[in-house]
Amino acid sequence: MKRIGLFLLLILLLPLSVLAQTADPTPTPNPDETSDPIPRVHTVAEGENLTYIASLYEVTVDELLALNGLPNADNLFVGQTLTIPGGEGEAVATVYRLGGGDTLAQIAAVFNTTPNAILQTNRMISPSQPPAIGQTITVVSRTGSALPQSVTGTPHVVAPGETLVTIAAQHNISPAALAVANDLPYLAHLLAGQRLRIPSDAPPYQYLSGAWQQVAIRPFPIIPGNTVSIYVENVLEGRPSGQFGNQPLQFFPQENGFVALVGIDAFAEPGFFELRLEGSGSRPWRPFTQQVLVNPGSYALQQIPLDDNPELRQQEDEMLATIYLTRSETRQWEGLFTAPVTPTIVTAPYGDARSYNGAPITIYHSGVDFAGTIGTPILAPASGTVVFVDLLELRGNTVILDHGQGVFSAYFHLSETFVAAGDVVVAGQTIAAGGSTGLSTGPHLHWDLRVHGVPVNGLQWLETPFP
Ligand SMILES: [Zn+2]
Repeated sequence: MKRIGLFLLLILLLPLSVLAQTADPTPTPNPDETSDPIPRVHTVAEGENLTYIASLYEVTVDELLALNGLPNADNLFVGQTLTIPGGEGEAVATVYRLGGGDTLAQIAAVFNTTPNAILQTNRMISPSQPPAIGQTITVVSRTGSALPQSVTGTPHVVAPGETLVTIAAQHNISPAALAVANDLPYLAHLLAGQRLRIPSDAPPYQYLSGAWQQVAIRPFPIIPGNTVSIYVENVLEGRPSGQFGNQPLQFFPQENGFVALVGIDAFAEPGFFELRLEGSGSRPWRPFTQQVLVNPGSYALQQIPLDDNPELRQQEDEMLATIYLTRSETRQWEGLFTAPVTPTIVTAPYGDARSYNGAPITIYHSGVDFAGTIGTPILAPASGTVVFVDLLELRGNTVILDHGQGVFSAYFHLSETFVAAGDVVVAGQTIAAGGSTGLSTGPHLHWDLRVHGVPVNGLQWLETPFP
């Protein structure tokens, strides 16, 4: 009996030791800061050539060519960073805002410093609380300038039994080059699950976990009411999924990866939102998480001299919500949206809190109001499919366009409509005439833009191309 118990205990312990061996060590691109001298660099300016730069630093053109891996003197470009032989550069303090995928290890690598040095400079205690995407930090750059250096390559996650030699052979590089690129001693012992950088000319390399190749978030600053685009690439085959705060992410293929759009509600509490990325194909993808900073917006209060009808509003909201949440795979728009009326005069911006006849605030302005008269042509801002045309009590005559991939635009208070459900419209096409039907203080267009059901500021889409 005792023996069987011991045997069971061993069985139970076994997976633990396996787990310990496959743990993903934090990638440390540059563990020993002090041994790494700061290079002296020169940024190429307009009209400079190698002969001039060589004379400036009393070095030879050949030395410059060799140190910078340049095939000849003809390919200089303005803004190029050249390393100058001899001499030492200086540490340069610079301010850096974290973009998507900017882990501590990433920032350390591009500024030739260490995660610990960054934590110390910013008085952050623990690497378990790394800075969030969107946050601004101070970095003491050791690249020789305030500019980050480019790091290129692709990730390789070590499989059981692989060694530096087999991985190097697989990628057609020398084991020594692979060791150097990962700050490992030559012929270091590798752990299954460990992530290596396989050096190559392209693409840009990010120090992420697992087989994530790229995580890119834009645009900044992120505020309530704005739309956020999250682009990801993973070396593994499959499809990503994830969450932004408590919103599930819906990814669609884009370039070499996938993109998801997130709408942030105008009433969202500013602060840190967790971005969690995962995915699966023939194998599950290792999750990636990072905090994202949502800055406060600046919204005002609008007093509306009308009586609202909350019950009716809720009925209409629920009916419209089912339309906004239908899912169509094909993206019909390309680049920027165009304004739905010209001239484009905003009479009530998106996001302001609303009080109807002095009643307490329960809603915010979910769209943008544009000036117009009865009959003003209402233009489709982008290509899409008409999914709704009807007269509603509060919104008046209403048209809704589905632009694909969870993006909808809606037009309220119209006097006339010129399209029917199922019609496909193109950007700039006249779909309706402005009016003052429904709960309205006078002729205007109310324009709603929805991203996966969340009302967002449509004006951002006139200036920023999505996805
Ligand atoms: Zn409005």
